[in-house]
Amino acid sequence: MKPVDFAYHRATGLDDALEHLNAAGEGAKLLGGGQSLGPMLNLRLARPRVLVDVSSVAALRTVEPARERVTVGAAVTHAEIEDRPVSDVIERAMREVAAGIACRAVRNRGTIGGSVAHADPSADWPIFLVCAGARVYIRGAAGARALPVTDFIRAAYTTDLAPGEIITHVEIARAGGQARFGFCKLCRKAGEFAEAVGAVLIDPERRCCRVVTGAVGPKPVVLADTTRTLAATAMPPEPDAIRAEIAAVANEHDPVKLHTAAVAVGRAIDRALAAYAPSHDGDRSGSGARTGLTFQSADI
Ligand SMILES: Cc1cc2nc3c(=O)[nH]c(=O)nc-3n(C[C@H](O)[C@H](O)[C@H](O)COP(=O)(O)OP(=O)(O)OC[C@H]3O[C@@H](n4cnc5c(N)ncnc54)[C@H](O)[C@@H]3O)c2cc1C
Repeated sequence: MKPVDFAYHRATGLDDALEHLNAAGEGAKLLGGGQSLGPMLNLRLARPRVLVDVSSVAALRTVEPARERVTVGAAVTHAEIEDRPVSDVIERAMREVAAGIACRAVRNRGTIGGSVAHADPSADWPIFLVCAGARVYIRGAAGARALPVTDFIRAAYTTDLAPGEIITHVEIARAGGQARFGFCKLCRKAGEFAEAVGAVLIDPERRCCRVVTGAVGPKPVVLADTTRTLAATAMPPEPDAIRAEIAAVANEHDPVKLHTAAVAVGRAIDRALAAYAPSHDGDRSGSGARTGLTFQSADI
């Protein structure tokens, strides 16, 4: 099947994009890298009258690695993030996440803004951004606004974005020097969409810890009980406890899916904690106390 006929406008700037988007009303659709929208057009799941291409809008194409936060423009591609130099745990984590998305051809075109807007429950960026406590910035005719990614994504393929609005960038707070990140994406072939994802950020200096389950249920979710246990003990919770929490928050009851999701979360926790393990005895059991990792009142 081929797409319906549509007009195409390559936006020259953010204002130009907003103008064309609003002029066309509900019949308009933004085009980022086209890696999700392209197939939807071909299947006629999307039938826009006008496509407004924002992939070369300069204001959406910058990465600003400031001291307190990293700001990534919506039209920055996965490959550009994969190729960036890294100076801290957040940038290293972003490189790891980007490199695990599909193949290089998809990464060369697909954008972080498109991924967040599309809100596929199995997509890598939304899971990482929820784990990192990131915020998404939006511009529309009425002005600019921002909200946490966890609130922006409401359900599978459903976000808070209103017609006529554009994601301009995402903002990720930098973590402390002792912070560690663990990511585990389980899929049958490297680079495929995930069957389950676990993402973990442990940041003792900022008293911040988040364990996230993704690709199960309608959107990525922070596992609050698992997070509290991890923050308080620097030990992975029992697999059964992780599984029970995933079942509850994701409303998922298929035993195979639950097992896969719990394994992904468990491995992500192990990967984050492994960075704290003392090298002389390989014993992780007391590492939290020795490194000052544990903290009771985690900011989830
Ligand atoms: C073969 C294949 C394998 C893939 N595997 C993975 C994978 O393993 N993990 C993964 O995470 N993803 C995967 N993807 C998806 C890929 O990462 C896409 O690039 C991404 O989901 C969408 O980004 P995009 O820039 O291509 O957006 P587009 O396809 O252009 O747009 C997607 C949606 O976002 C909207 N949009 C785009 N930009 C903006 C903006 N600035 N503001 C508001 N709305 C906007 C569009 O209107 C559309 O509704 C895969 C894709 C393919 C084709």
